Amino acid sequence: MVAAVMVMVLVAAAVASAAGDKVVRYDDEVVLECQHGNATGGAAVRAWAEEVGGDVWAVRDGVTDVRVTGAVVARGLAAVAGGCRVVVDDLQALVAASRAPLARGTSNTPWFNDYHTYDEIAAWFAELAAQYPERVSFQPRIGESTEGRALFAVRISAPSPVPVAQRPQIYLQALQHAREWIGGAVIQYIAQQLATTTETALLEAAEFVLVPVVNPDGYAYTWTTDRLWRKTRYRNADGSYGIDANRNWDDHWGGQGSSSNPRSDTYHGPAPFAAPETLAVSDFILQNSRIVAAYDLHAYSQLILGPYGWTHAAPPHAQQLQTSGNFQSLAIEKVHGKKYVSQPSVDLYPTTGSAGDWFYGQQILDGIGRLTYGFTLEARPASANPGFLLPPNQIIPTGEEVWAAIQFWASYALENPL
Ligand SMILES: [Zn+2]
Repeated sequence: MVAAVMVMVLVAAAVASAAGDKVVRYDDEVVLECQHGNATGGAAVRAWAEEVGGDVWAVRDGVTDVRVTGAVVARGLAAVAGGCRVVVDDLQALVAASRAPLARGTSNTPWFNDYHTYDEIAAWFAELAAQYPERVSFQPRIGESTEGRALFAVRISAPSPVPVAQRPQIYLQALQHAREWIGGAVIQYIAQQLATTTETALLEAAEFVLVPVVNPDGYAYTWTTDRLWRKTRYRNADGSYGIDANRNWDDHWGGQGSSSNPRSDTYHGPAPFAAPETLAVSDFILQNSRIVAAYDLHAYSQLILGPYGWTHAAPPHAQQLQTSGNFQSLAIEKVHGKKYVSQPSVDLYPTTGSAGDWFYGQQILDGIGRLTYGFTLEARPASANPGFLLPPNQIIPTGEEVWAAIQFWASYALENPL
């Protein structure tokens, strides 16, 4: 009996230590919407945010959203040229509301009425494969995260006279950024559609390949400890945690729009593909040498971003990429009337080492012999309130509209390979 109690105490201690730090609260934190005007203004707002220890949530059309403490607001926002206004005045309340029962969806597919943990998502995909074995296969481990979680992949296609091994492939990934929960929910929704749709033309022509959770450690951490964590959980040399996975891809790595400061939310890491997650996923992509289109799902801002992020130069396939992006945007608007702006990524601000550029960059060209329709989608909502705290009752409508875009993007890529 004593031994049993002892074991229970040890188990409890192990669970507590696995959970790590205690749950982060956001009392006295607010989110600002700052007008930045042109590119110079945008850079100035981001520099100011870094100086005051702010957290840049999004850069949108002429606007930068920044999370700061009440003390920063009290000191005055005069330093920010275009002016800022508070759009979330009680961040802790917004976080709590996003997890309240009332925020859940009410559809008759309960899975999509709420967000799910990494373990639940992995089990759900394994179950999807078990339920639809003629279409779906589950690869439990294509690599592993810093903390040893499995990076899993899912393949979806329908039987046709063309052997799967000879078909072009369509690649999708989500959750590089841990706090962008809707991206993970949307890729689940897309997988469900692919597994069950009766419109099988795409599934007969191509093989869909998905890596639904690129950053499982960061994602798990948003559930246990810090809902607003963005990076991986890589242990940095200075003792801080996390690489920005979407600044760590080996394409113009370490340049503009990424930080060499390990504590920054855009830390590019000590070397390209230093994050085990981006290394494993990029290797996996190169092994799938028939990929013609690749999508990286994020949130928020309602944007469809094509190449390039690293330069203002027009990509060689500017016309095809722009056509794809514009028609994706139209497809989305037809579903629920939401506007997703289609534009080259760099038009927001320059970024380097992103997956989107790698999908359309030299390394994939060398590796598989072609460039792909590389896109980055920023899903709902349009602005900082609710920002990352999108209530789960938005999962299905967001899934429906992004699914419309994905179908167009995939069909267009198959008909117009780069
Ligand atoms: Zn993101």
